[in-house]
Amino acid sequence: MTRPIAFSGNTLDRDERHRKDEAYLATSLQEDKTRILPVWKLAPLVREGDEKRLAWATPAILDGHGGPDPVFLGVADGRAHFAVDISAHGEPLKEFGWEGAASFPDLRATVGLLPPGDGGIAAQARHIVDWHSRHGFCPGCGEKTRPKDGGWARICTACSSEHFPRTDPVVIMLVTDGERCLLGRQPGWPKPMVSALAGFVEGGESLEEAVRREVREEAGIQVGAIRYVTSQPWPFPASLMIGCEAEAVSRRIQIDPSELESADWFSKDEVRAALEAPTQRLGVPPPIAIAHHLIRAWVGK
Ligand SMILES: [Zn+2]
Repeated sequence: MTRPIAFSGNTLDRDERHRKDEAYLATSLQEDKTRILPVWKLAPLVREGDEKRLAWATPAILDGHGGPDPVFLGVADGRAHFAVDISAHGEPLKEFGWEGAASFPDLRATVGLLPPGDGGIAAQARHIVDWHSRHGFCPGCGEKTRPKDGGWARICTACSSEHFPRTDPVVIMLVTDGERCLLGRQPGWPKPMVSALAGFVEGGESLEEAVRREVREEAGIQVGAIRYVTSQPWPFPASLMIGCEAEAVSRRIQIDPSELESADWFSKDEVRAALEAPTQRLGVPPPIAIAHHLIRAWVGK
């Protein structure tokens, strides 16, 4: 089986029915079989050792927990799974006795070492824990909000308006003219790394319009046909990467220096070689990035 793209492939049943069942959620949080994923400063707990995987705790870690409510992630093997933000703890590894057995490594650096299903769960947990940490107050009236529906909504304690976790769509497109593709480098990226162009979809804009606008603004290239290829959750903090291939109908590059340091056309042969090892002119993004997969699909590898 092909490994799913990083951060996709979540193996939990998100089980929307049970989110609204307060009795089920309360009972689950009393049961030893329930699995709790501790998240500290937005990093999920990962088991140390040769085979890294998410490290699950039991509801016992919630005894005396004064922090945010656990969020219901879903169900697998008849067991409820939650994530809980334990960032209020100064030294959680020491306090919970996890030292040597588990740690909170940087998720971007670790996701490629986790089993694919765990990467998807880590994305879900990071995304929703981050959302709660930044939405304690109502954007309508300024009063406090509290979580509901197992953590998949918040409701204002004063005006009762409901707020839902947001996902921010980003288009990322490999622009090609058939035999060559357009890759660019943002200021600050290590040389010779380049990638597909990307940008946030704006309000009132279709995906096709966002692709055409971003490519025109960043590189001065006009785009014709656009084809959706694949997508990727990117929980830093809340993006959904929508991967496309876009057909160039003009060739002359004119970069916007505030967005790109450079951009150029690269042949299939050059790109194939760079997938093996970076060349002096060209380094492609690592497999964790959706751009890697768009590039690989285009060269037919
Ligand atoms: Zn309010």
